[in-house]
Amino acid sequence: MASSIIDGKAIAAQVRAEVKEAVAQWVAQGHRSPFLAVVLIGDNPASASYVRGKAKACAEVGMGSETIQHPASMTEKALLELIQHLNADEKVDGILVQLPLPPHMDEKKVLHAIAPQKDVDGFHPENAGNLVIGQPAFSPATPAGVMELLKRSRVETRGAHAVVIGRSNIVGKPMANLLIQPGADATVTVCHSRTKNLAALSVQADILVAAIGKPHFVTPGMVKEGAVVIDVGINRIEDPSKKNGYRLVGDVDFHAVSQKAALITPVPGGVGPMTIAMLLKNTLAAATKNHP
Ligand code: NAD
Repeated sequence: MASSIIDGKAIAAQVRAEVKEAVAQWVAQGHRSPFLAVVLIGDNPASASYVRGKAKACAEVGMGSETIQHPASMTEKALLELIQHLNADEKVDGILVQLPLPPHMDEKKVLHAIAPQKDVDGFHPENAGNLVIGQPAFSPATPAGVMELLKRSRVETRGAHAVVIGRSNIVGKPMANLLIQPGADATVTVCHSRTKNLAALSVQADILVAAIGKPHFVTPGMVKEGAVVIDVGINRIEDPSKKNGYRLVGDVDFHAVSQKAALITPVPGGVGPMTIAMLLKNTLAAATKNHP
């Protein structure tokens, strides 16, 4: 069976258009535009490009944003002070610290310093905890984007067996928590690097989410006929035919697995575009919650 492709680019464009409309309404009610502060430390080219993408996306939906850039030599203390300043700034609705941070900084300490009500990445323990217990929380944008893709592709999650491969705090764990919440109602198995007989578990999945960080890890033998396959992975592999010498691939062997899956996300153009769209949604929610 050949699969249908979940068009993440089109769905993300839809979400962004809805956010744009909601921002316009919010402003029409006399509020200022939602505002996102993005903190970028160092000169990692991938981070710089992600941050540019976020600023551009904010502008396109009518939100304000500011990128605050500092060299990698910035001290952790100075960064914590900057975050305190942004926490207290009435004009800032959402704060995002672009990861990774330079090695001399304690990522946990930095992320925990962000005021939970401005933590639009959803990495603060208060938001992570609220997500687990089903209370209102900012959900991390990537797994929230996967939920949105499933919903808008009319994938039935209720009672489905979802297998999540990966247990990171930013993708795998929140993904599993979103899928088991009442309303989503999936039965979830989480697999990771120490899982035994992973293929025997993944092959049972009605919905398979791959968030591993290993190119083409998921092969057809690991996938049930007719499954929905969501590929979160973004991996660079060498490709001399490309001008820049590489191309992006997911964690799923797309061509082979698409012969078996009913629905599948491509890389690029699947989960990736949803991440920024969901960040915009979270920033709008921060503005409307904090200034009702
Ligand atoms: P991570 O390295 O923090 O976690 C990877 C997880 O995979 C770990 O929990 C580990 O247990 C598991 N794993 C590793 N090797 C395994 C193996 N052999 N068998 C089973 N499990 C194994 O990575 P992450 O931050 O969760 O990201 C995962 C992937 O998703 C990466 O490719 C990353 O680039 C991508 N990503 C994409 C987006 C997006 O916007 N689409 C956002 C975040 C991450």
